[in-house]
Amino acid sequence: MKPPPVKIRSLEPAAALAQNLFSRLAEETSDFPGVTRVAYGPGESRANALMAQAASAFNAEIVFDAAGNQFITLPGSDRSRRIVIGSHLDSVPHGGNFDGAAGVILGIAVQAALAEHRIEVPYDLTVACLRAEESCWFPHSYIGSKTALGRLDPAVLDACRRSDTGKSLADHMTEAGFDPAAVRRGDTFLSPQTTVAYIEPHIEQAPLLLSQSLAVGAVTGIRGSFRYRQMRCCGEYSHSGAMPRTLRRDAAIATARLMVSLQDLWERLEAEGADLTVTFGQISTDPLQHSFSKVAGETRICLDVRSQSVDTLARVDAELKTLADEIGKATGTRFELGPRSGSEPARMSDELVALMLDSCERLKIPSRRMASGAGHDAATFAQAGIPSAMLFIRNANGSHNPDEHMDAADFETALAVVFDMLLQPADRWPAGDKNEQA
Ligand SMILES: [Zn+2]
Repeated sequence: MKPPPVKIRSLEPAAALAQNLFSRLAEETSDFPGVTRVAYGPGESRANALMAQAASAFNAEIVFDAAGNQFITLPGSDRSRRIVIGSHLDSVPHGGNFDGAAGVILGIAVQAALAEHRIEVPYDLTVACLRAEESCWFPHSYIGSKTALGRLDPAVLDACRRSDTGKSLADHMTEAGFDPAAVRRGDTFLSPQTTVAYIEPHIEQAPLLLSQSLAVGAVTGIRGSFRYRQMRCCGEYSHSGAMPRTLRRDAAIATARLMVSLQDLWERLEAEGADLTVTFGQISTDPLQHSFSKVAGETRICLDVRSQSVDTLARVDAELKTLADEIGKATGTRFELGPRSGSEPARMSDELVALMLDSCERLKIPSRRMASGAGHDAATFAQAGIPSAMLFIRNANGSHNPDEHMDAADFETALAVVFDMLLQPADRWPAGDKNEQA
């Protein structure tokens, strides 16, 4: 059966509901400058209550899992499986109103529009209000999505919220009326086997869409990374006026050469079409020993390299080692890389991205494929084998700050895209049996 034609205009009440939710959320979680919604704190609870209240208008089914993630469900034709739209309701301290909340509110607005037009989607449509995505509260990311899918390392339950109470995550769950023992056992409400798709709308945290005058973009992958946070370059301190150039073992110059060489490598790989970022986030000489009249005997370096491709990460890591070796030999210095940390890239579902871009095309909304440089709950869903996709919404002034800015018109565009996706019949969605193989 062909889905009924629904004009964008008919989404106006849902868009108005969303704007009202954004205003109330900003008001009720305000913490000048910006908003604060502490994970398992009052702002996050207030945000959850606001979403539940909005959903009560269309008689959605509401369930909390053992960790306190809230799931708001509109029944679909096949009640044995679900499509999940979601994101997180916590924020960083004095953050912006849209990071996280935009995805949840978009889900609620889509449900309101479907209910208003009495449209039944092929599967149950669940809005996931996830907890504790930001790692600034408990020193771990994606706590909500990991608990939702039974993928949280139980040791994280003992992590403490150092920002204020010093109490453990388990204590905070108990205080909020939830059940950390069940979380420890891996009890969940969501199951990867019965989740057809996870869609996470989110503000873009970089200015790419803004610079290309696009309202939305389809995310193809979340970059993985490798980091050397304790890299050092060891040379020799000497007199700046007396030591000839050829006899110097200058750690600052060696570091600069490495930086420029890696920047060149980035440019070369980018020209070949590779997805990559290379960042030297911190560089310093030793404050106890350096001086304006000394050749630097040591530098300390933090390197962060990200890509959607495991192969690109491996190639850059290998080239880094070769370059460090060569530059060390040429400058009489030695690079010590120190411990390596990082994360795996998360690939979004090609089928879902295609479904999303088809909807953009049908609605004549210009869009693009893009990578997400920052981590999101969608990474957890993808790693659990659930076909996942993210829709980025144009946003000015970055995120994690009070100035983040998403236009209401861009939100409405994103709403139209997700709404159109949900009008597509069951055979356009990734098949459930594929999830089980994943
Ligand atoms: Zn976020």
